[in-house]
Amino acid sequence: MAEARIIDGKAYAADLLAQIAAEVAALNFQPGLAVVLVGDNPASQVYVRNKAKQTVAAGMKSVEHRLGADVSQSELLALVASLNGDPSVHGILVQLPLPEKIDAAAVLDAIDPAKDVDGFHVVNAGRLAAGLPGLVPCTPLGCLLLLKATLGDLAGLEAVVVGRSNIVGKPVAQLLLRENCTVTIAHSRSRDLPSICRRADILVAAVGKAEMVRGDWIKPGAAVIDVGINRVPAENGKTRLVGDVAFEDAKAVAGWITPVPGGVGPMTIACLLRNTLSAAKQSKEALF
Ligand code: NAP
Repeated sequence: MAEARIIDGKAYAADLLAQIAAEVAALNFQPGLAVVLVGDNPASQVYVRNKAKQTVAAGMKSVEHRLGADVSQSELLALVASLNGDPSVHGILVQLPLPEKIDAAAVLDAIDPAKDVDGFHVVNAGRLAAGLPGLVPCTPLGCLLLLKATLGDLAGLEAVVVGRSNIVGKPVAQLLLRENCTVTIAHSRSRDLPSICRRADILVAAVGKAEMVRGDWIKPGAAVIDVGINRVPAENGKTRLVGDVAFEDAKAVAGWITPVPGGVGPMTIACLLRNTLSAAKQSKEALF
């Protein structure tokens, strides 16, 4: 059997960003994204810097609020309230993780659901579960866009999602259900994970365990979406990124596969800007 074709998330994300920039240029106002960063987590700082760079590149306004790790819950809630009320801000993103003493769920739920471009607000999670329109979490949306661009109509396909987090696994499963897939959600308590995975025409791995999904867990010809980002030691004494799927083995069996890096990752920021554009356009429609 031929090797799997690579799903080039970098190229899809670049196309999506170009489409978004063209749409933004045609608007008679500038969409704005506010990003709130608390503390000095180095990974979060890199994410926030990339988000701001791409927001500006797409022609949108980027506003960054950097707060010390000692910020209080009430100060953070007051900032969110002021962003909710700011008409030049159409999307609000609070970068996770927040310091332990902050109740992250309370902060996320304080965001106006219409500006919740991460799609984590319980109202948007409920809308997705109920099959209603709303803002959808960025990484799951990126997975879906890659799958639709690769396979076209997904109706009737067997989909297995490994992982049930609110951020990735559950929303990916909801989106695949919305596309009329037959969806199984597997997790750490699932029995005989390899045989569950072998049923899948679409296999989404969102576990956070380096190369856990082996080649012989994959149905020949399946589309494999690897959401995992794991840093492991490399031969040169440095580190490298790998996914939740053993890429080389899986590539010999699958029909399509996303690489790590360069698969789902680049789609996440592109989908964040897609959500910001949708929220901005929706805010204007809501006025009439
Ligand atoms: P998470 O909240 O830790 O959830 C992991 C899920 O995997 C849980 O549902 C857990 O099951 C399940 N799991 C853990 N060990 C398992 C095992 N041995 N067998 C089967 N299931 C197992 O992680 P997450 O936030 O969903 O993220 C998952 C991965 O995606 C991470 O590597 C993360 O870095 C990556 N990620 C990437 C992007 C991106 O932009 N590409 C965005 C977000 C996340 P239980 O519920 O039973 O504990």
